[in-house]
Amino acid sequence: MGRYTGPVCKLCRREGQKLFLKGPKCYTGKCAVDRRAYPPGQHGPAQARKRKQSEYATQLREKQKVKRIYGLHEKQFRNLFEKAVIQDGVTGVNLLVNLETRLDNIIYRLGIASSRSQARQLVRHRHIEVNGGVVDIPSYHVRVGDEIAVRAADRELFPIQETMGARSRATTPEWLALDDKNRVGRVLRIPERQDISLAVQEQLIVELYSK
Ligand code: SF4
Repeated sequence: MGRYTGPVCKLCRREGQKLFLKGPKCYTGKCAVDRRAYPPGQHGPAQARKRKQSEYATQLREKQKVKRIYGLHEKQFRNLFEKAVIQDGVTGVNLLVNLETRLDNIIYRLGIASSRSQARQLVRHRHIEVNGGVVDIPSYHVRVGDEIAVRAADRELFPIQETMGARSRATTPEWLALDDKNRVGRVLRIPERQDISLAVQEQLIVELYSK
């Protein structure tokens, strides 16, 4: 199955909140969630008026929301969940940590890309190195101490330059370090739940997949 290439604002409207899938454009004040605060489609306004949601629908929406934030297919997301189940600790937190430590997410968190989809493209197009070697697999999981950098020959690429210039060091999460000048990031530690600033209830996803 191919990747979703339709209008991403529809995905935010479906989840009823901003998922920030378009990078800087999401901050321009023309957000579709602000302008049309109801689900897309002919029956969207009617759905918005419907007050009560079943337990299953609540769990499903939470799962879809997280899946869309990270831009994954169901199969990829399910695989990460299965991995989280067999890891030590709380399954929901393990799932979020597995999502956060994907290479494409790290590129986004470091501010090298303005959205996860742009980050994925940078990785796929071989612009990113991990510990000095090119890695072109967006799902690659980083480890503590890994050094992530834009390939030397690509450091002046326009989109990267623009994004790096627009973001400040303050936006880099505490578990990552960024050398702005050389465009090199380092993984200081594996994130804990409080480091992941996502307003999601991961327990609902665990309940959904445990049915
Ligand atoms: Fe979502 Fe950004 Fe579109 Fe707003 S502008 S609906 S946050 S993708």
